[in-house]
Amino acid sequence: MNFNKVLENMKIYEAGKPIELVVRKFGIKKKNIVKLASNENPHGCSPKVSEAISKISDRMNLYPDDSFYELKDGLAKRFLVKSENIIIGAGSDQVIEFAVGAKCGKKSGVLMAKTTFAMYEIYARKMGAEIFRTPSHQHNLNEFLEIYKKHKDEIGIIFLCLPNNPLGESLDRRDVYKFIKQIDDDTMVVVDGAYQEYTRYKDEKKLIEPQKLLKKFSNVLYLGTFSKAYGLGGMRVGYGIGNVDIILALSKLRPPFNITTLSLRAGIEALKDEKFVQTAIKDNFKQMKRYEQFCDEYGFKYIESFTNFITIYIDRDSTEIFDELFKKGVIIRNLKSYGLNAIRVTIGTKNQNDLFFKKFKEVY
Ligand SMILES: *Cc1c(COP(=O)(O)O)cnc(C)c1O
Repeated sequence: MNFNKVLENMKIYEAGKPIELVVRKFGIKKKNIVKLASNENPHGCSPKVSEAISKISDRMNLYPDDSFYELKDGLAKRFLVKSENIIIGAGSDQVIEFAVGAKCGKKSGVLMAKTTFAMYEIYARKMGAEIFRTPSHQHNLNEFLEIYKKHKDEIGIIFLCLPNNPLGESLDRRDVYKFIKQIDDDTMVVVDGAYQEYTRYKDEKKLIEPQKLLKKFSNVLYLGTFSKAYGLGGMRVGYGIGNVDIILALSKLRPPFNITTLSLRAGIEALKDEKFVQTAIKDNFKQMKRYEQFCDEYGFKYIESFTNFITIYIDRDSTEIFDELFKKGVIIRNLKSYGLNAIRVTIGTKNQNDLFFKKFKEVY
């Protein structure tokens, strides 16, 4: 069968491998498997969220409130913006899809770092858009600017992933502002802040807030998610914050009821328990130190991380290390497909990290 030509250049997104697969394949007991592959919050989510959700389990017959009034109101208060500046997506992933759909096409491509979130490229290719990447793996704004100046008329969206998944680096806010000032109003700059809650804790200079972006720039779309620090990856709730005209354009592409009644409630309640989030973030960086010490002790290079995972360069074939760990029930990410001999490990709980260190020593 012939399919849409754009599919020819597209690869299927490689999601973190699920625990269930390791159970089926190797017969390892669930409790002996650790998944440190998708940057989920290892502490789960706020108990207030679970409680609120169980209370509405008899409401499945009704569609959710498609205006998402309460969730937008909660986000608007959190970020000191207006509800009309917010769009809700089934994960911020879906907001990326809306943005690319609203802005890109054959003559309007995307610019991004060489190694960054894979979905930017997938959605861009779907629109038949051209992909421009910087030579450096990590974000280098001089390189971004150079390419932008050369191909101004061919670039519809610039993606800045701060902190960057899968490498963990981030940029100082001042440099980001300086960069965006040099971009035309008609080019959208997407600041993907999926991990900004972590950055805020680690280094205030790198904190980027949507309300500040909104005040300064009319062409910026900020993306946030409940999947990471809030521990709601399974619920699929994310959001975009930007100028009203951007939000209205993206809204034309939003299917009705794009998040579920349960997801909606989860997001609303999650915003009310900041303490849960902060406790988890604090533990994340405490555990991160152990990874840094581990790397120093064994002589592995790593990228300083401003988020909830760490990228470690391996001096052997990273695929081999990945496969061996996988067989032992430790699921991480192999970065070979990005052209890096490295692994990305999500920071787990103390016990999960203990298991990683133990198994890593065994296989290495
Ligand atoms: C996880 C992630 C997202 C979106 O996740 P959703 O679960 O779709 O909200 C977006 N950008 C980056 C960089 C991510 O790591």
